[in-house]
Amino acid sequence: MQRGSCPNMNHRRSDAPVRYCPNCGEVVNENIILKKCSDAMSGSNHG
Ligand SMILES: [Zn+2]
Repeated sequence: MQRGSCPNMNHRRSDAPVRYCPNCGEVVNENIILKKCSDAMSGSNHG
């Protein structure tokens, strides 16, 4: 993996739509929050 030679445009963008580059896997935007496996939104019928 050669760093800095990735042709993906996400590296150039300051507001990349993805957290990791789909091409090399490097973090391009740390602001993107990863989705959790468990969805707390669906448990509204508790109790
Ligand atoms: Zn990349």
